Amino acid sequence: MKSRSMVLEEFKKPLILKEFDIPELPKNGLLVKILFSGICGSDLYMIEGKDPRVPLPIILGHEGVGEIIEINGEKKDLNDEILKKGDLIIWNRGIACGECFYCKVAKESYLCPYRKVYGINRSCREYPYLLGAFSEYIILEEKTEIIKLPKDSDPSLMVLAGCTGATAVHAFDFLSNNLMGKTVVIQGGGPLGMFSCVLARYIGAENIILISGSSKRLNIARKIGVDLVIDRNEISIQERKKKILDITHGRGADIVIEATGNSNAILEGIDLLRRGGIYLIVGVSTPQEKIPIDIYEIASKNLTIQGIWVSEGSHLYKAVSFILRNKDIFSLFITHKFSLKEINEGLEVMKKRDALKVVLENDFE
Ligand SMILES: [Zn+2]
Ligand SMILES: [Zn+2]
Repeated sequence: MKSRSMVLEEFKKPLILKEFDIPELPKNGLLVKILFSGICGSDLYMIEGKDPRVPLPIILGHEGVGEIIEINGEKKDLNDEILKKGDLIIWNRGIACGECFYCKVAKESYLCPYRKVYGINRSCREYPYLLGAFSEYIILEEKTEIIKLPKDSDPSLMVLAGCTGATAVHAFDFLSNNLMGKTVVIQGGGPLGMFSCVLARYIGAENIILISGSSKRLNIARKIGVDLVIDRNEISIQERKKKILDITHGRGADIVIEATGNSNAILEGIDLLRRGGIYLIVGVSTPQEKIPIDIYEIASKNLTIQGIWVSEGSHLYKAVSFILRNKDIFSLFITHKFSLKEINEGLEVMKKRDALKVVLENDFE
């Protein structure tokens, strides 16, 4: 049995179709047929060679939903259900070691220094080779956290939970239980920023303001109920601040969420916060240019600046249930579907920022 997979052999080059022999499964490992995978904004950086975690050659793709083809032993999902052939599943892209200080003592397994990530830090030279979702098949190892999905759930939609949804949930886990009466500014209209808009609404924010440079994405934002959409190409940085001060009685936002992955947004984000505000830096996944920060502003405004790094199984779990309960809204996120073979076209569409979410259907036969 073989798997056709899209491989990154050289940075800055298109992915290449390769055939792999499917090896013997590891103990309690699973062979999964990918149904849909998602292109994450960070895949573009990885292909450019900007993510220091990525070895070559590699099958990228850290968001996927698939069907179990074979299990070498026994494996349960996060609801304690025994998994079977034919089950529709999603999995946590990261596998923490479960043994170290961060896993055992701090209980922040997303910080585990030994965390292995499908489609990010595992070369296809490493057994069991099929370790990314841009592939006909993926092999999930024993320690992978898996969630069995309802049979009738739309796998193209559930792809959103894998990285985008889980990371956004991680950010909101740092906030108090509800956002009633609060103003939340989200910088960046990609999937992560938009998912954050939907979560902010659900948790009860009074005002949700999205700043983005893509008019297509801003149109979707209007449909998902964002209160104020700001096109940063049309409205200057001074005017943007004025709009937010006007809404907040001159105070500034309670919470700003950075979902651009770009350090240039950070100084504006800090400036938009009220005294005592919270800044969540969610979108950064690769090393960035250093920026000058006004420490006095941070101290005198009593700001909290919180980095958010990846996610863990509990975040994925919440993201899955959140998407299942809000299918109509999240179906607006899927702006482009390509076949897996056409992934390089999908990557081009992502680069232009016209798309919100690009998903890939595995239609190898
Ligand atoms: Zn991602
Ligand atoms: Zn660990």
